[in-house]
Parts: sequence; structure tokens; C-alpha cells
Amino acid sequence: MSTDFETVIGLEIHTQLLTRSKIFCGCPNRFGAAPNTQICPVCAAFPGVLPVLNRAVLDMAIRTGLAVNGQIRLRNEFARKNYFYPDLPAGYQISQFELPIVEHGELIIEPEGAPSRRIGITRIHMEVDAGKNLHEGIQGASWVDLNRTGTPLLEIVSEPDLRSAAEAGAYLKKLRSIVRYLEVCDGNMEEGSFRCDANVSVRPRGAERFGTRAEVKNLNSIRNVMRAIEYEAQRQIDLIESGGKVVQETRLWDANQNLTRSMRGKEEAHDYRYFPEPDLPPVVIAPERIAAIRATMPELPDAKARRFRDTLGLSEYDAGVLTASHELAGYFEATLAGAAPADAKSVANWVTGDLLGRINKEGLEITASPVPAQALGALIAMIQENVISGKIAKTVFALLWEQGGGDPRRIVAEKGLNQVTDQGAIEAEVDRILALHPEKIAQYQAGKSQLLGFFVGEIMKATRGKANPGVVNELLKNRLQTS
Ligand code: ADP
Ligand code: MG
Ligand code: ZN
Repeated sequence: MSTDFETVIGLEIHTQLLTRSKIFCGCPNRFGAAPNTQICPVCAAFPGVLPVLNRAVLDMAIRTGLAVNGQIRLRNEFARKNYFYPDLPAGYQISQFELPIVEHGELIIEPEGAPSRRIGITRIHMEVDAGKNLHEGIQGASWVDLNRTGTPLLEIVSEPDLRSAAEAGAYLKKLRSIVRYLEVCDGNMEEGSFRCDANVSVRPRGAERFGTRAEVKNLNSIRNVMRAIEYEAQRQIDLIESGGKVVQETRLWDANQNLTRSMRGKEEAHDYRYFPEPDLPPVVIAPERIAAIRATMPELPDAKARRFRDTLGLSEYDAGVLTASHELAGYFEATLAGAAPADAKSVANWVTGDLLGRINKEGLEITASPVPAQALGALIAMIQENVISGKIAKTVFALLWEQGGGDPRRIVAEKGLNQVTDQGAIEAEVDRILALHPEKIAQYQAGKSQLLGFFVGEIMKATRGKANPGVVNELLKNRLQTS
């Protein structure tokens, strides 16, 4: 007998902030330096040192809170979370607990092929990252690298509102895109600057109460988060159906074997003996500061997509693709600016089609596109101005790509690719081709109208794609009627 189960998911995300210095000292906040070269007595938690809050961290927390429609707590407080681990020299982490900086936020997600939904964001709080224990390639010992201690983090905690792996994936994509638009985090899951823990439980469909959750860690891509949720939900269902009980615990995702395994029993909040951080005063924020930050907020992906649809007339799909990252949206807008008199739709077609096709095929980022937005814009403008045909434009695009940019107008002029719109020149070509095919003319005039395409093709071939197809069509139709 099998009951129908519903999966319930809440995500905890740790974002490393892109500040220049660390959260409580002046050390550089930089990834990749030689071990223990980016540290000071504060990082190493020498006795007697005192933390001082980096104001850039506070500003980024406010920006992120505003972006998810959260309430900014004007008086918030740091708390000490006590636990022992070799990469945590202080023996505690400075975090926020009862009075976090942001509460009651939300994110609208649009999972593919499913209705959009509002997902609650319980809280966002500021905290400090720990160091790293190194085990790999070391014999009979473990080393500790404290470079990462003091890296500022925002922990973003969702309500248990997500109901499937697909929704969790959509939530992660949307949130990652927002922190990138805000330039508060690079969103790199592989390098660990955007880390996700997934809390997963199941319950019989229709039940009120949530089931017991397991927290899954070690998820370094959106794909792995989705796979882990699917595996974990099924594991819990199988367990319940065979008469077992889910226990609250922390589990690790094993991407090679495609399964989660128990790591440790889940700590409860009281295990951490939280108390207000005595070394830092409460954070008091002036409303003017929030207003000032609000005034510098960039246009976020949802608003941008709405504008692309409503003002530029793009399809829902194109608007979604083009706003997925602020770099791509920026590329599109720069292309559009240079493409007048062409319209937004043709620019969107070029960017999502020829350009992104090539970018994806070669595994590049849009920021590394060999064809600059200005060049692509000028190319599209030339099509609209009838200087070149769409077909020739593809040839010029390939040239721009190969030579890493350049002026498309120069290329067209130098290679003599200008479209022939000269009526007389095209007429001569039309007459020449028609003279070669009297039997086809007869067939056309007897009703085989699809032969028009054959004639157009022959003329385009003869002019190496340079004849204006509109003019060719007009002339042909005239000639074929009267001859
Ligand atoms: P902890 O630090 O103990 O994990 P948090 O409050 O930081 O606690 O995070 C708890 C996370 O677990 C939140 O994202 C919340 O939505 C989620 N959660 C809570 N209960 C459940 C449940 N029964 N099933 C799935 N997720 C849950
Ligand atoms: Mg947790
Ligand atoms: Zn330091």
C-alpha cells in the first residue's frame, strides 16, 4: 500500500560578500592566496582583540534585504554561536540570532512549465565565515588555513515553502541572479561563495503537520541540489513506507554515488549556547541610510523582464532569457542602443540566437564575447537599412567573431558585401536567369507557383547573396506574369 507523499523543502544559503576587506578587521577579502597570508590577530582570534563591523557589509545586507522585499530591522544585534572546530580559532562564530537584520522577505519563482509562486524568506543575517581544514595530499596530519576566517557572509533562510526539486532549482537561480545584479556576491557555487544547505522532509499529501527534516550539505551546484532533494525525499518515503521513522540529522550529498549519507545528529539551537555578542554594540540603522541605499538599487531581473516585455515588446521567453544575468541584459541593451533603426525584437533574435548559440557552444561567458555589443548593434542596423541581407550578416558575424571584433561597416565595404538594391543591376540578372529556364517559366505559368522559390534561389546564388530579396521577388513576379 503506497500513500501519496508531498515533499517540503527549506533552503539555507550562505553568500560570501564581495567586500574589499573582511567583516571585522582590515585584512583583504580575497580568494586564492597562499595559506595564512591574509590574516591578522583578529582573524586568528588572539586574546584581547576586538571586532569592528565593516560598514560595507551592513550596506550589502540592507541592499539584499530591500531586493527581496524584506523588513530591515533598524536595531539588530550580533550573537555569539559557540562550537568547537579546528578552523574556528575563537571557539565561536559571530552571527545573528534573535534579532537579524532582515525578516519577512519573499521571492517570486517561475519554475519551468509550472505556475509562479511566492516563497517566503524567513530571515537574512550577517555572520562571519570560518577558516578551512586541509586534508588532501597531507600525510598523517591536517592543516588549517585561516585566510577565509573573517569573510563576510549573509545567510538567507527560506520558509519551508518549496514543494519540489524544480521549485528549489528555480529559487536558487532567481536568488543567485539577484545577488549578482546587486553585485554583493559572485554566486559561484563551485568555489563555495554561494553555498546551499537543503532541508528536506516529506508528509502524506493533505497532512497539516510537517514531517521530520534532514538537512543536506555539500551541494556545489544547482543540479546537485535538485538531485539531492529528489534522492532524499525518496529515501524518506521508502523509510516511512517500510515502517521506519525519519530522524532529524545532517546528511552529506555524495555526487559520485548519487546518494545522501548521515553525517551527524542535528544540533539544536540550545547546543550552540547563543548569547548577545559582548564585543559588538547593537547595530542601529538610521532610516536615511536605508533611503539612500534604496535610491541606488539597480533594476532587478523581474522589473527588467517586465520592462523588456511591456516597453520593448519582447516575448515572455526572450525577456526571461535576456535578463537571466545582468551581464547578458547589459549586452542586449548596449546592442540595442547601437542597432537603430532596427527594433528590439530583431536585436533579441540575434542575441539569443546567433550570439548565445556560439557563446554556449564554445563554453564562454557573455562578458568574454569576441563580438562586442557595439559591433553587433551596427551589424543589425545594416540589415534594417538594407545595406546587407540577413544572410550576408551571418557571414560578417562569423568574421567579427574570428577576428575578435572590428567595425562591421568597414568589413562590408572592404569585402564588397553591400547588398545590391540597384533595380537595373538586379533586372539584368533576373533576365539572364529566366532566359536559361524557358521550360520552368512555362510550368510556373501553368500553375506551379512554388517555382518562384527556385528562381529567387538562382538569382541569389548568381549575386552571391547580395541582391535584395524583396526587390528580386517583385521583379520576378512582374516578369513571370508578362512573359
Ligand atoms: P537550523 O540552523 O537549525 O538549520 P534554520 O532556522 O537556520 O535552522 O533553518 C531551518 C531551515 O529548515 C529553514 O530553511 C526552514 O524553512 C527549513 N525547515 C524547517 N522545518 C522544515 C521541515 N519540516 N521540512 C523542510 N524544511 C524545513
Ligand atoms: Mg540549518
Ligand atoms: Zn584580519
